[in-house]
Order: sequence, then structure tokens, then C-alpha cells
Amino acid sequence: MLLDGKLVSTKILEKIKDKVNKLEKKPHLAVVLVGNDAASQIYVRNKKKTAESLGIKSTVIELSEDTSEDVVLENIKKLNNDEDVSGILVQMPLPKHINKEKIICAIDPKKDVDCFTPENVGKLAIGMKPYFYPVTPQGVLLLLDYYKVPIEGKHAVVIGRSNIVGKPMAQMLLQRNATVTICHSKTENLEDIIKAADIIISAAGKKVVRCKMVKNKAVFVDVGISRDTNGKLTGDLNWELDFNNFDEVVSYFGRVSPVPGGVGPMTIASLMLNTIRTIESNECLELL
Ligand code: NAP
Repeated sequence: MLLDGKLVSTKILEKIKDKVNKLEKKPHLAVVLVGNDAASQIYVRNKKKTAESLGIKSTVIELSEDTSEDVVLENIKKLNNDEDVSGILVQMPLPKHINKEKIICAIDPKKDVDCFTPENVGKLAIGMKPYFYPVTPQGVLLLLDYYKVPIEGKHAVVIGRSNIVGKPMAQMLLQRNATVTICHSKTENLEDIIKAADIIISAAGKKVVRCKMVKNKAVFVDVGISRDTNGKLTGDLNWELDFNNFDEVVSYFGRVSPVPGGVGPMTIASLMLNTIRTIESNECLELL
């Protein structure tokens, strides 16, 4: 069956909107965008649009490509000290002349809705509760939970080891008592590892998995986003090699997420959830 991220994210966003409506003080998300990266501009526009549609205040600080590191740091300091701003997000990637680590370390961990800062990442790593969970892995878990996919005791394989997806995904699955294997570009025998998995979370950004590599009725969550030769959005699953249409793919797997319409919308919903958590407790929402 399908892991329908569009459906689940819509339900979550409705609940968030209800909650925001009832709040006297609205959450306020500030996004810092440096440079002209086209994809980043689209992501930021979508985040702002979604936030505003929920009644969340949203400010985008747009800085030109040649902005100095000091100026970016000054902007972050201002947002940290601005009591009206409850959440801060710095859109990645940053221009090459800016030290990404310095920027991340400057964000107040209590406003770090992306879970980038060492305090939040460190807390997650040692099993403490960070102020916020990383948005994409949190979105994946919300999706799995909505469909009541069992995680405890299962063998979960995470493909990718980036700081924003692979590593935190593995940590969060471990916290949920899965047995976790992390794979990356140097992993040998990827196919054998995938074959042994009950749950696969793929975040390579390349078509590294074909259906027949995966055990029948396993769960496959496709985080990857790339474009095929026709410019169409696609995930990591190279399903066209084994099946004629996506319905056949859906019946092969226990559960599978499509691209688009899977993890993408869940990531946005998860960010909005973190944004409302900047002023409300984690327990404020009955989500699913
Ligand atoms: P990233 O930093 O480029 O990481 C990609 C990871 O995949 C790396 O760890 C890399 O290994 C691994 N990898 C590459 N080729 C591989 C192969 N042949 N076999 C096994 N592993 C391989 O990317 P990211 O930021 O984590 O994002 C991953 C993908 O998810 C991208 O397509 C991105 O666009 C997408 N994404 C989607 C959402 C969403 O909302 N849907 C959110 C975030 C990211 P090495 O470490 O060895 O290089």
C-alpha cells in the first residue's frame, strides 16, 4: 500500500492551523536565504506560503550572494534577540565563502527549527530530547506512524549518511528500537544489505535501488529527489526496471512512498510542526 505523504501532511497541517488559530501569540518563522540558488528560492517561497496559510508569521531575510559571513552572523544574532521571532531557519546551501559551521553554531538552539545546531544534534545523538527533531526524519516517522508500520525490533536500512537526513534518521530509528544499518557510497554488497531489510529509508539522491533488490512486502520510504532524463521529479527507487506502472510497485511492497507526494510534503508539515513547537509544548498537538 501507498505511504501517502500528501494525505498525511494535509491532515497534520489542518491540525496545526486549528491550533495556531487558537493561539494568542502566533509563532514566527524567520528564514535566512543567502544567494541566488534557484531550488533554494523555491523551497523558501513554499515554506513561507505554507506558514502563512496556517496563520504562522513568516519573514524571509534575503541576502545577496556576495554577503560577507559577518553580515550573515549579525542577522542571525538579531533574530536570536528578537523576542517576536520564535523559529530560525538558514536555507542551505550557503555560498562557498561562508563557513557553514560558524553560521549553524550561531543559531539559538531554542529557535533552531531545523535541528542543525550542535546542542540539538548532540542531544539527539545521546538520547536526550532536543528542542526540535530534524524535519525530514521526523516527517518520515510521522508517515510510518500514521500507517502504523511497526518499527521496534525491525531491521531498518538507511541509505545515506548526511547530517540532515541519513544520520539523524538512523538515530531516531534506533531510539524507536529498530536494528539499524547505515549505507553510503562506499558500502559493499548494498544489494545483500537491502535484501535483509524490513524497512528501507533511501536518501541517496540517485536511483540506487530497484524493486527486485528489496524483500517482498518490505517497507520502502523514498526520500531522494532527482530529475530523470525528461526533467521529471523522481526518487531513489528505479521501479521502471521491474514494473510497468506504480500500482504494481505499490502491491509489491508492504508499503511504499511515491516521489513526488511522499516525504516531500511530510518534510514541510514537519517544519510547521517544529515552528508551532517554538511556542507550544511538544504535547500540544494530538497529531494523528
Ligand atoms: P547528500 O548529503 O548528498 O547525501 C547523500 C548520501 O547518499 C551520502 O551519504 C552518500 O554517500 C549516499 N550515496 C550516494 N550514492 C550512493 C550509492 N550509490 N549507494 C549508497 N549510498 C549512496 O544528500 P541529503 O541532503 O542527505 O539528501 C539526500 C536526498 O534526499 C537528495 O536527493 C535530496 O534532494 C533529498 N531530500 C529530500 C527531502 C524531502 O523533503 N523529500 C529532504 C531532504 C533531502 P557518501 O556519504 O559516501 O557520499
